[in-house]
Parts: sequence; structure tokens; C-alpha cells
Amino acid sequence: MSNNNFSKTYDLSYKISGLSEEDALKLISEEHAGKIVFSSSFSWEDQAIAHMILTNKLPIEIFTIDTGRLFDETYYVWGRTNEKYHTKIKAYYPNNEALEGYLQQNGPNAFYESIDLRKGCCHIRKVEPLKRALAGNEVWVTGLRAEHSPERKQLSQVEWDETNNIIKFHPLLYWTTEDVTSFIYKNNIPYNTLHNKGFVSIGCAPCTRAVKPGEDFRAGRWWWEDKNSKECGLHSTSANHEVAKAV
Ligand code: SF4
Repeated sequence: MSNNNFSKTYDLSYKISGLSEEDALKLISEEHAGKIVFSSSFSWEDQAIAHMILTNKLPIEIFTIDTGRLFDETYYVWGRTNEKYHTKIKAYYPNNEALEGYLQQNGPNAFYESIDLRKGCCHIRKVEPLKRALAGNEVWVTGLRAEHSPERKQLSQVEWDETNNIIKFHPLLYWTTEDVTSFIYKNNIPYNTLHNKGFVSIGCAPCTRAVKPGEDFRAGRWWWEDKNSKECGLHSTSANHEVAKAV
């Protein structure tokens, strides 16, 4: 990380220390107005953040990546969110030529065949659209929480993402599941009903299943793979990121 990026990340961490999640979002959005985006997959963490942004009319663009393989329940909560908050969440889609080529060569469900084919699918359907969504921005707000995996426990609320050349801010990083659900119910926020059926982390339908009580949160994603390979490339959490731990 260059000195300049370290200093930007450090400054932001310092400024938000002691603030509530909502006040931190306000401060960061004012300092980076027009250059700050929030990626939503309509999980209940994301719905809580979207509620903070939309009810406070914060200058943060909310976008989602429609991989084409999402659950019906996800599309439903997307529509309900647009209606409730009188908004139109921006959607990014995979590059059609890349997707057509991949499907022609490998078929529709090749992600079950090998890690390379699975990562290839994630790259086309998620990573490349994400890069377009982040381009030109300074801050990327996410719904990551420390409870989700051991790697995510190592994160700080503000960190530098070397891969995407952007500051990442995780306002709910230290929230528990109970904190999230209380906030959702108290504010009557629309949420994905798959959460009521044991789905914790909700992604594409063919690659997500419910987890049993006591199972790891990430056990419901790409369950046929070794657990060390379970990232789609959106949130690389180790070597690619240098964390502002100074505050
Ligand atoms: Fe493809 Fe599954 Fe990755 Fe979705 S999660 S992009 S369907 S491999």
C-alpha cells in the first residue's frame, strides 16, 4: 500500500472511531459524495445498510450484481426494496459475449465440475461486473460481518483494497446476527425470506444452501469444494488487502 493510500485509510478510520454505524456512514458519504457506492446482494445485512442510506438520503449509489442465477426470493426482495423506498437500485450484468462463450463451451452447470470452472463462472458473472461498478469510485461500502468467517474476523471496518484500488468500509463488521435481525424487525425492513429457512449467506441459487444449526456460516456456499477455496473473488481477504489496524 502506498503512503498516500495508507494515510487516506488511516484518516478515515480515525474520523469514524467512536461513531455509530449510521453516523459513520453519514460522515464518509459526505466526504466522498459522488464517489461512494454500496454493493447489495439483498442479504439482511445489506438491507439494514440500504435502509440507513435510503432513509437518511445519503449520497451513496446502491448497486447489485444480477448474475442471472439468483433465487426468486432475492428478486422479490429487490422489487420490494425499490417499492418501499421509492428507489431504483442500479443493476450490473455479466458481459454477454463472455457469458455466451463460457456457456457454449462448458454448459449451464459447469461450476460443479471443477474449481477452475466455478471460479471462471464467478469471474464472468460477479467479478468483472463488480470491477465496472467500482471503477472511478473512492469508497466501497459492504455488508461483511466478522461472524461470517475466520478471515473476516481479521478485517477492520476501514481497509484498503489493493485489488480494486479503493477504500472498503464495512459498517456492520462487528454486529452479531441478533443485532442485524433486531434492526430489521424494529424498522420493518423487507428481507429475504430464505434467511428464515436456514440460509445465512445468500448468493446464486445453484451454489447456496441452508446451513444446519452450529454449522459454519460459509458451509452453505460451494459446499462441494474444499473450505479454503470458498471465496468468489469479490472479497479477497488476505494478501490482497492491507488493513488499517492503526486505529
Ligand atoms: Fe456461477 Fe455459482 Fe459463482 Fe454464481 S456463485 S457466479 S452460479 S459459480
